[in-house]
Amino acid sequence: MNKKINSIRGMHDYFDEDVDIWHRLEKSFKQVLNNYSYEEIKLPILEKTEIFQRAIGDVTDIIEKEMYSFTDRKGNSLTLRPEGTVGCVRAIIQNNLLNKKKLKFWYLGPMFRYERPQKGRYRQFYQLGAEVFGLSTIDIDLEIILLTHRLWKILGINFYMFLEINSIGSKLDRLEYQKQLVSFLEKNKSFLDKQSKERLYSNPFRILDSKNLNVQNLLKQAPLLINFINKESLGQFNNLCNMIDLYGIKYKYNPNLIRGLDYYNDTVFEWKSNQIESSHNTICAGGRYNALIQELGGEKKPAIGFAIGIERLILLIKSLNITSKVEKINIYIIFIGEENKIHAINLSEEIRDIYSELKIFVSFSNLSLSKKIKHAIESLSRIVILIGSNEIKKQCYLIKELETKKEFYLLKNELMLKISDIFRN
Ligand code: ATP
Ligand code: MG
Repeated sequence: MNKKINSIRGMHDYFDEDVDIWHRLEKSFKQVLNNYSYEEIKLPILEKTEIFQRAIGDVTDIIEKEMYSFTDRKGNSLTLRPEGTVGCVRAIIQNNLLNKKKLKFWYLGPMFRYERPQKGRYRQFYQLGAEVFGLSTIDIDLEIILLTHRLWKILGINFYMFLEINSIGSKLDRLEYQKQLVSFLEKNKSFLDKQSKERLYSNPFRILDSKNLNVQNLLKQAPLLINFINKESLGQFNNLCNMIDLYGIKYKYNPNLIRGLDYYNDTVFEWKSNQIESSHNTICAGGRYNALIQELGGEKKPAIGFAIGIERLILLIKSLNITSKVEKINIYIIFIGEENKIHAINLSEEIRDIYSELKIFVSFSNLSLSKKIKHAIESLSRIVILIGSNEIKKQCYLIKELETKKEFYLLKNELMLKISDIFRN
């Protein structure tokens, strides 16, 4: 046998239960996003490398070490998108959409980051992203929190999700804060782990995100970003928190919540799950990025967005055991004897003509009858239709109802009525 070739590390195939959950997720996403009048936008997976370099920030994890970049045949540097916001903003500018009255978009697709693969962290992963352009008041920040919260409710996971929220103010505010933070951390350098020491001068804000317990303890005494934030941003943030309270959504103010990408300002938030280990418990993350459109060559327009990691959501749903079994096949047709195959195919086509939504399976394999019945049961089929020479002679079909274990003969028109009866709901 030839040596088999496997997929790339950190890039996975999805099938069976994962795909069933995936479909359910997509259905709920579309329902909720439609409910808030978001429109889908389809974007390329490849973009020019420079667009990410310009937007994401030189000293972020993504730019420093996570991008899949390569040169094409003409020597242009291209990158498999590590996130969706940048491409979405590029598309809005390029297609002159910025002056539309309603600018609410969503997209779903694969993202690529060269990370160390582990549970909940892959090199190809999927995100549902949503972006809203042109609105500067916190009404839209609130709406995004309400939208994501509604999604958790529809998926039946709202009790396992919690919201963390912070305001990171303006770039200018953060510059002042950075000085104070670095000076504090320098004085306490001995408490920092290797990674935090490395980040001290390149990207000290990432230290706030550290999972190291010593660093986390030290941060309890560190200066807080909130004390450096301009009055207007602070006022808006307080209003936002009050409104979230009014809608009865519980949240935790996390003064150290800093998003990994450079382009954010003011509101940032993460929805985490208490059912998942902290290394990968953030399911949804988002925030405001009022300067990015201008940075990428568009006019000055505020913006806000979020992204949900699909694989992490699937991990959560599986861990909660709230998946319902999906019928892989609805009607299982078995013919006995090669000469009856044509009758099975004809019948399956006639059923499909009338019931386009049903999953009809004709078993062409040479398994034994009992194995075929076993397969029908495993596939959660409701009925098996058996076609042998006897049945053809009598112009009827033998029907087995798998749940009730009843067996009976039906003429074709009776069978069609029976199918309607069984699958009406
Ligand atoms: P983390 O801190 O976990 O690395 P991040 O800040 O890099 O996350 P974002 O860029 O905000 O993540 O992406 C939004 C969401 O996409 C995350 O909250 C997560 O659910 C998902 N995500 C990000 N990176 C990965 C990955 N490598 N594998 C699987 N899901 C991911
Ligand atoms: Mg990351």
